[in-house]
Amino acid sequence: MRAAQFVDQHRIVIEEVPEPRVRPGAVKVRVVWSAICGSDQGLWKSPGAKPGIHGHEAAGTIVEVGEGVTRRQVGEEVLVYDVIGCGTCGYCQRREYTRCSHRQGGVGGGFGQYLVAPESNVLPIAPGIGLERGCVLSDCLCTPLKAVESAQVLADEWVVVFGGGPIGLNAVQCVRAMGGRPLHIEPLAYRREAGVRVGAQASLDPTEGDLGARIREITGPEGAPCVVECTGVPEAQRATFGAVAPGGRIVFVGENASGLSINVSEDLIRRDIRVQGSWYFFPSHVELASTLFAQGRLDPLAVVSHRVTLETIADGFRMFCDRSDGCTKVIVRMDGE
Ligand SMILES: [Zn+2]
Ligand SMILES: [Zn+2]
Repeated sequence: MRAAQFVDQHRIVIEEVPEPRVRPGAVKVRVVWSAICGSDQGLWKSPGAKPGIHGHEAAGTIVEVGEGVTRRQVGEEVLVYDVIGCGTCGYCQRREYTRCSHRQGGVGGGFGQYLVAPESNVLPIAPGIGLERGCVLSDCLCTPLKAVESAQVLADEWVVVFGGGPIGLNAVQCVRAMGGRPLHIEPLAYRREAGVRVGAQASLDPTEGDLGARIREITGPEGAPCVVECTGVPEAQRATFGAVAPGGRIVFVGENASGLSINVSEDLIRRDIRVQGSWYFFPSHVELASTLFAQGRLDPLAVVSHRVTLETIADGFRMFCDRSDGCTKVIVRMDGE
């Protein structure tokens, strides 16, 4: 099979590699669509080889099932759920695999034409969705969906969403789908336009003027009852406290390696602020996202700006990482069709 190898900074080689072999309890998937994730940017940007087959937003068809597989069958369309839990702890039994403290590394393999995944790490794609939407209806849609769901957005409530990357744009869609009023914050003009296109009532440039004051002009003098931070940029993380109203809540989705210093008394206690983190998603969010799509309340493909093939995947990485050509989300056709 063919697979993308990340051999150095800005250098991807498409190589012929052996197909992975199915194991007991696992299934083999022919990958048809795979998406480039914000968390994949290091594969392109940082020097040196990154061995192995990367890519964790894949959708395809099951071509073989291993011994002992009972829930999946050959021919089924599935998307990959990347987090591998221990399978036995209380969290895993509730399918909250991200909370398992004995998690193993991810499934990966999405930038190869075949991958092998444990049976519980492939989720069926509901009828009418298809593989192209399926690859986006995983991390890219369900991560913000879980975050927005955990914020318990009320009808007509203002929700400030920081970030115009794929996660931020899908957070805007999810807020709308849940009946809230999204106010979008993003420095790049074309991504602000994308924010409005997917349902934000307005999109503000955080580099212009006093952001907190401009947010309050729109949401009312107290600020917004809810804020979802999808950039991981320290300035944006800090700005969430200036956007949120007393008694409100902030959900952090975007990550960075450095810390954020908060004044627990002034930022939280004296304003009754609830702060929450949300990482990745549970399989149940795929079901919720599928229902919202079937009801016409959101569309995973609304954030997709570019389609490339495995052979031209480097173009996709370049556009996405350079924020060029109006790029918001790139999906990769893997099977040469
Ligand atoms: Zn991802
Ligand atoms: Zn577990």
